[in-house]
Amino acid sequence: MISVNQAKDILKATVSAGEIKHLPLSKTLDLIAAEDIFSHIEVPSFDNSAMDGYAITWEDNLDTWEITDVIAAGNGNRHQLQYGKAGRIFTGAPLPKGSDTVIPQEFVHREGNLIRIIDKGKFQKGSNVRFKGAQTKIGEVILKKGSQITPGTIGLLASVGISEVPVFSPPKVAIIITGNELQELGNPLVFGQIYNSNGPVLMAYLQQIGIKSIFSFQAKDEPIALQKTIDEALEHADVVLLSGGISVGDYDYVKKGLENAGVKELFYRIKQRPGKPLFAGKKGKQLVFALPGNPASVITCFNQYVKPSLLQWMGHEATWKPSLLLPLANPIKSKAGLTFFLKAKIDKDEVHILPGQESFNLIAFGTADCFAEVTEETEELQVGDLISVYRW
Ligand code: AMP
Ligand code: MG
Repeated sequence: MISVNQAKDILKATVSAGEIKHLPLSKTLDLIAAEDIFSHIEVPSFDNSAMDGYAITWEDNLDTWEITDVIAAGNGNRHQLQYGKAGRIFTGAPLPKGSDTVIPQEFVHREGNLIRIIDKGKFQKGSNVRFKGAQTKIGEVILKKGSQITPGTIGLLASVGISEVPVFSPPKVAIIITGNELQELGNPLVFGQIYNSNGPVLMAYLQQIGIKSIFSFQAKDEPIALQKTIDEALEHADVVLLSGGISVGDYDYVKKGLENAGVKELFYRIKQRPGKPLFAGKKGKQLVFALPGNPASVITCFNQYVKPSLLQWMGHEATWKPSLLLPLANPIKSKAGLTFFLKAKIDKDEVHILPGQESFNLIAFGTADCFAEVTEETEELQVGDLISVYRW
């Protein structure tokens, strides 16, 4: 059996970044840029007005100007302003040739075609002009490799005309839910059955980290059917997640099935609770996680191992660190030699350990917002001691 940190080190060293794909901009939200992105144009690509007002030539140094032009946004004409002439101009419209300053309409007294600036001391040459290249120069890096694409990033990329972005493509993931006792939602429970909660959990977690290509399988605790399902999942997916059947019970056929399918073990069993019988394996570049079926084990193991591995595949950096280190609100007694991941809630910057820590028990997830990690060496912690927490 290995420690939590050994298991994480193995995964860190094993998982490589996914294939680089050039995707349409609209498909890249939340993905990671796989290369530095350069601009091929200047933005703005022409000097334009930042206000609704009047374009003038500052050096004319006059008190009044005569309006000879009207320029709206999108107007492609570039008239030359003569000495003493002004252009009526609107936000985003190109400055007439020769002009260099825009006086907002609130600061102009207009009579017929003549204008006078009300408070000239407030302005100087270049006031209220967005100059060509003020945002971006040609050849400038606008997004660094490794950046996560946000809605704002999409705006930036669109502003320089980029319609396709090289990103680390997320893996296709297969979920295999095993267990003869499982019933699907929408059906009544027959005696001895429980609802399949791990399937919805895994789906939700995958959606949360932006994985869209998901195949769902169900398998009975029966070796031949399970083998077929494992083989099929490995045919279609980059990453296979199994729930249940990886412990030492008589009906736990997952480990054998994975071996038969050519999956090489990275590790099996971790000194932790919940989730001790976690299995991780590899087949070529494909990754396999067999998660022990207890619902809290699935959530813990996904949070601690699967999620950081998938994020690493998707090009994220620093995916293995706890989210925070915060003081405890309750004392804890622990058992040295095992790492405990406790369902907890952060309130006023303190970590509250919740009741209902058994691995079958999901009740704490109604209020919990993180796991608190009690490390292997720890036997007890006092109120106020710092503890690492991992948000979902
Ligand atoms: P296993 O790892 O298959 O031995 O399952 C351990 C425990 O988790 C058993 O009590 C199962 O009934 C329960 N369990 C297994 N799979 C699921 C699931 N998909 N949803 C909820 N509970 C499950
Ligand atoms: Mg089972």
